[in-house]
Amino acid sequence: MTVPTIQLNSGYSIPQLGFGVFKVDPAETERIVTDALEAGYRHIDTAAIYGNEEGVGRAIAASGIPRDELYITTKLWNDDQGTDSAYAAIDRSLDKLGLDHVDLYLIHWPTPQKDRYVESWHALEQIAADGKSRSIGVSNFLVPHLERIIAEGGTVPAVNQIELHPAYQQRDVTEFSRENGIHIEAWGPLGQGKYPLFDEEPVAAAAAAHGVSPAQAVLKWHLQIGNIVFPKSNSAERIRENLDLFGFELTADEIDAISGLERGGRVSAHPDEVN
Ligand code: NAD
Repeated sequence: MTVPTIQLNSGYSIPQLGFGVFKVDPAETERIVTDALEAGYRHIDTAAIYGNEEGVGRAIAASGIPRDELYITTKLWNDDQGTDSAYAAIDRSLDKLGLDHVDLYLIHWPTPQKDRYVESWHALEQIAADGKSRSIGVSNFLVPHLERIIAEGGTVPAVNQIELHPAYQQRDVTEFSRENGIHIEAWGPLGQGKYPLFDEEPVAAAAAAHGVSPAQAVLKWHLQIGNIVFPKSNSAERIRENLDLFGFELTADEIDAISGLERGGRVSAHPDEVN
């Protein structure tokens, strides 16, 4: 099993499939991330606000996996946007993770009401220059936010991590991002279990045709359309299932049918409203 990698505009490569730890209980994070590393994941997506960076760090340390074989992402929380506050935040995250650098550091939300995301972006540029993150990017940025940091910042984000699943594909953001060399990371790739995605006919049909689960069919749809994904699960069985995506290929018709499930079905907050 080899997870494909994607070359980012920073010159570094990211494994296209990883493991996300949103809502993973801090007390269980070390065990669950250990399960993921043992299953073969090498890319972990966490965030300061998840409160589980220490558990991720303990699992990394206990694994004995060489640092350069791992890809670790964390995120700058909204309250820490700014310059000195962002420098302090990355140092806290690195301390909790037990690392001297992360592979990817993201502004978690644009929080346009604070109007500090351009300043924060400059801080992330300095964090990259200082070697504390190999690549830098953003999360939950809409087109106007991206346009502004590209116009006022120096560096084009390596990724934009956005809510994206078959019922909510954010085509305006994905097209703008791709035109500007920004790779899309799809969070909530399975819709966070908040709508009956697995019962949708195109998903069920593709899963049946390839003898895989509906979750595997949806995750493969993401990979084949170029998204970077890191599904979350607490169950060792599903953790392994979600990595087992490389023994089948969806047809172009199956991909089109799943893409046809778009209905503007956002399951989480609107980025302009998060502060
Ligand atoms: P997800 O779409 O990965 O859904 C997770 C849920 O799907 C699990 O709780 C589980 O109930 C179910 N599931 C997982 N595997 C399954 C399987 N094989 N079969 C059936 N059900 C299965 O949602 P998510 O965890 O919110 O998103 C993935 C990751 O994205 C997060 O862990 C986090 O790292 C990241 N994320 C980022 C943001 C952001 O604002 N940047 C927001 C949310 C999540």
